[in-house]
Amino acid sequence: MAEKSHTTDVAIIGAGPVGLFAVFECGMLDTKCHVFDALDMAGGQCAALYPEKPIYDIPGYSRIDAALLVERLAEQAAPFDPTYHLGHPVTALEQHGDGFVVTNAAGVRVACRAVVIAAGGGAFGPNRPPLPGIEAFEGKSVFYLVRRREDFRGKRIVIAGGGDSAVDWALSLAEVAGQVMVVHRRPKFRAAPQSQRQLEQLADEGKVELVIPYQLAALEGAEGWLDAVVVADLAGNERRLAADCLLPFFGLATELGPLAQWELAFDDNRIVVDPATCATSRAGIFAIGDIAAYPGKLKLILTGFAEAAAAAHAIHPLVHPGEALHFEYSTTKGVPGT
Ligand SMILES: Cc1cc2nc3c(=O)[nH]c(=O)nc-3n(C[C@H](O)[C@H](O)[C@H](O)COP(=O)(O)OP(=O)(O)OC[C@H]3O[C@@H](n4cnc5c(N)ncnc54)[C@H](O)[C@@H]3O)c2cc1C
Repeated sequence: MAEKSHTTDVAIIGAGPVGLFAVFECGMLDTKCHVFDALDMAGGQCAALYPEKPIYDIPGYSRIDAALLVERLAEQAAPFDPTYHLGHPVTALEQHGDGFVVTNAAGVRVACRAVVIAAGGGAFGPNRPPLPGIEAFEGKSVFYLVRRREDFRGKRIVIAGGGDSAVDWALSLAEVAGQVMVVHRRPKFRAAPQSQRQLEQLADEGKVELVIPYQLAALEGAEGWLDAVVVADLAGNERRLAADCLLPFFGLATELGPLAQWELAFDDNRIVVDPATCATSRAGIFAIGDIAAYPGKLKLILTGFAEAAAAAHAIHPLVHPGEALHFEYSTTKGVPGT
């Protein structure tokens, strides 16, 4: 069984791009990190909302796909040996003397000297369709995110939803899947017109089946493995779609959850920080990235990167009391293993 109690220097809440870069910045100052995320993968919005979209305003890259940026950030953090606790939201923060204990929904407890909140718009979770027993299929044959397209090669896939994610993944998975069926309750999709045209063309060519106007009604299968997805039209007429996987794309919800109860100063659902240090109103707790608020704040990845550096420097005296911190360039200091 995995160890549930840990001790480290800093607990980072949020493995989005900014949380990942905070591991690097802390590491450069001899500060160890454990990183929590509600999602079962790192990358925050980049991974969950737009992995295949190019980003054009990351310094040094004229363009980089969001998923690749996340990969690069994880690679940059790796020499500092972070521990990731993914797939469960942080549920509690307790003050213990000068330090804290951060706990997640799986019961993992991390004792630390400082906390960095890099929680973006809040913990990501799926908007679940209200199908009895769906939880038993999640992670085996029901997926709310596509992490690797290859995992779906040759599979019979039912995609449900009418937005960009449903349409974009139908187009993409049609290239590898055995069969793709798109369930939507009306003929019009809320997707880019060009993507909708492409989808209709694939349907005309018989490469995708549009199951319209239908909604999800039930799942059939055993021990988490699907045999079929039952759909129904508005009159209650049912169809049984033999399938291996269901991908419901009804959007991801974010919720601030317990953070809102941690006696931090908030402004419009974001945590107020001192921009010089990213310190919050509670000593030892810092906030960076989209969740951090101060006058003139730009919600951009590059802004979050700079905030990660500021927070790491402000945290150093807490983790290494009495040790002088001499500002050094990375070119002078190097990273472990280089
Ligand atoms: C479609 C789109 C395109 C974009 N394009 C650009 C662009 O071109 N350039 C740019 O700079 N920015 C862009 N952005 C914005 C950019 O993605 C965000 O600024 C960036 O992701 C913020 O990073 P973050 O690490 O602060 O937060 P996020 O990426 O939001 O990550 C926060 C993470 O914290 C986790 N979390 C929150 N609460 C908890 C909790 N209680 N327990 C555990 N985990 C928790 C969440 O699950 C999430 O994974 C775009 C955004 C979108 C949606």
